[in-house]
Amino acid sequence: MAAPGNLFILSAPSGAGKSSLISALLKQPSERAMQVSVSHTTRDPRPGEINGQHYHFVTVEKFKQQIEQKEFYEYAEVFGNYYGTSETAIDAQLAQGIDVFLDIDWQGAQQVRMKKPDVTTIFISPPSKQELENRLTSRGQDSEQVIKERMAQAKAECSHYQEFDYIIVNDDFDQALADLTTIVNNQRLKRSQQVQNHQLLFKELLAND
Ligand code: 5GP
Repeated sequence: MAAPGNLFILSAPSGAGKSSLISALLKQPSERAMQVSVSHTTRDPRPGEINGQHYHFVTVEKFKQQIEQKEFYEYAEVFGNYYGTSETAIDAQLAQGIDVFLDIDWQGAQQVRMKKPDVTTIFISPPSKQELENRLTSRGQDSEQVIKERMAQAKAECSHYQEFDYIIVNDDFDQALADLTTIVNNQRLKRSQQVQNHQLLFKELLAND
């Protein structure tokens, strides 16, 4: 039987390029299925965002109900809105041997780490403060006030970089993607995984002739 899927967390300040990196990773050929978890949020959809694909967009009332019903693996308030990861969805994917990627903030990362210490956590950093501001401005989806708030939040997010297993500095996109791929492969090649993936091989190698 193949090993259960690996759980990865990617955290970054808004504008560090985390979403682009995850979607590029998922398009690459891979020996294991990979999925990014679709979070629930109470924020409004941005132009082009599709309900059920980018997020499950829900009301504050509904979100609070889901908290009470303990539906979330983790949840947090970010930029004045609630965000949360559904527990049942993640567990089902992992049980099927799918590698799951959580695009969540440092608060969510802390909660998941407590529940699942073998989670692999990755912090994506922008190459500089100026570049982060350029990226937030050129996205053109948020108002000046929102960008200002996000720059302040970026500092708060960055202040937690020491809590993560890996750090990728996203200066050159292709290099950052190669780094992310290396981390994922590294996790898959660990003995605990390989023993389960290659049970028959080791049985054969150690059998008496
Ligand atoms: P955005 O509104 O730009 O899509 O996301 C804002 C922030 O919320 C990002 O840092 C993102 O990683 C974080 N986020 C998205 N989904 C979740 C989630 O389910 N839980 C937590 N804790 N943070 C999330």
